[in-house]
Amino acid sequence: MLLGAVAQAAQITDVKWGVNKADVLRIVVDVTDTAGYAVDMEGDTLNLTVNADKGAQVPHSKAVKSSLADSLKIVDKGSYTVVRVPLKQRLLEKSYKAFVLKKDSATGRPFRVVLDVMPRQASYSGSGAATTVVSNRPVVSNRPTKNNSSIKKNIVIKTSTAADKKADKKKSSSKNKNDNKKNTAAAKTETKVNKSDADKLAVIKGNGRFRTSGGLDGKIITLDAGHGGSDPGAIGSDGTKEKNITLPIAKMLKEILEDKGAKVYMTRTTDVDVFGPNASDAEELQARVNVGEKYNSDMFVSLHVNSSVNKNVGGFSTYYYPKTDNDLRLAKNIQNKLAANFGVDDLGVRQANFYVIKRISMPAVLVEMCFISNEKELTLMKGQWFQKKTARLIAEGIEKYFA
Ligand SMILES: [Zn+2]
Repeated sequence: MLLGAVAQAAQITDVKWGVNKADVLRIVVDVTDTAGYAVDMEGDTLNLTVNADKGAQVPHSKAVKSSLADSLKIVDKGSYTVVRVPLKQRLLEKSYKAFVLKKDSATGRPFRVVLDVMPRQASYSGSGAATTVVSNRPVVSNRPTKNNSSIKKNIVIKTSTAADKKADKKKSSSKNKNDNKKNTAAAKTETKVNKSDADKLAVIKGNGRFRTSGGLDGKIITLDAGHGGSDPGAIGSDGTKEKNITLPIAKMLKEILEDKGAKVYMTRTTDVDVFGPNASDAEELQARVNVGEKYNSDMFVSLHVNSSVNKNVGGFSTYYYPKTDNDLRLAKNIQNKLAANFGVDDLGVRQANFYVIKRISMPAVLVEMCFISNEKELTLMKGQWFQKKTARLIAEGIEKYFA
């Protein structure tokens, strides 16, 4: 679906940085021509991928004077270049943004890809328990901000991006989602964790045991239909909301899994917020995790649809976080089924710090079921055929995992 690819030999001619009064670290990549870009978090490193060759004059690393980082690494990947920013502090949710500045012939400035990274707010870093919030919110999240949240939301930036290596290689770019994370204290039973003085986050911990084999019969599975209620998730060109795609597929998947003998719970069965309207991201996501923990699930599956500023990007991807020996195996089983049976791009299995797959004790995946920003896939995902087939294939992947 990616249109083909006359490789414009865009080249990076310089990588600059600066820090403003608010301590925001700005990285500016000069490029000879328009180039796609993406941002993603990889552990504690923020990666800015630019679809352009690295010019020979551009160094492989640069020293930086910032509270956020001491250096930048500029890595030549052949058809694209990655500016790696090893962070000295964990970022708050959505505290970076990338954008482009057009070529300005009046001033002689070239096309530029800009990455701004915001430091943590001092008032938040004082909190003992929680450090970072990472959410699986999509690029377009219309979730209203909770007024009394102590998390500073004034630094929320509309988009952040995740490198889509496959698309990158095809001279395309994608924007995915923010990877932020929140560390919550683990406890044996239901526990309150201080997020800040004003904000309490209820954390339920199950018995920590999960089964990974022996067939689907009798297994406990929690399904999470992404978004809902006050949070529509990503929105398609015709107004279709992600929350209204994830729910019917989750319901179909529940039915199929139950027919095969599994016990299935859902984080939501109607168009509602799981925690409550207008909660903070951490509250809402933890509420979903809590459902999986409460029922001592063997598996947790979160369903989403993807979105990208690049309308050509499409396909399935399955995300995991390697907290157990089985997360990756689960992701592979599901992704392989989806990739083999749909004529859309296989974006593969990917590791990510998404809250619901990281902060839960049992093996978990987050499946991105095509792109709502891609017209062809939007039409597909609205149809019963796609929804049923996706549910069936995910069920088959789950069955294979437990085989
Ligand atoms: Zn989503």
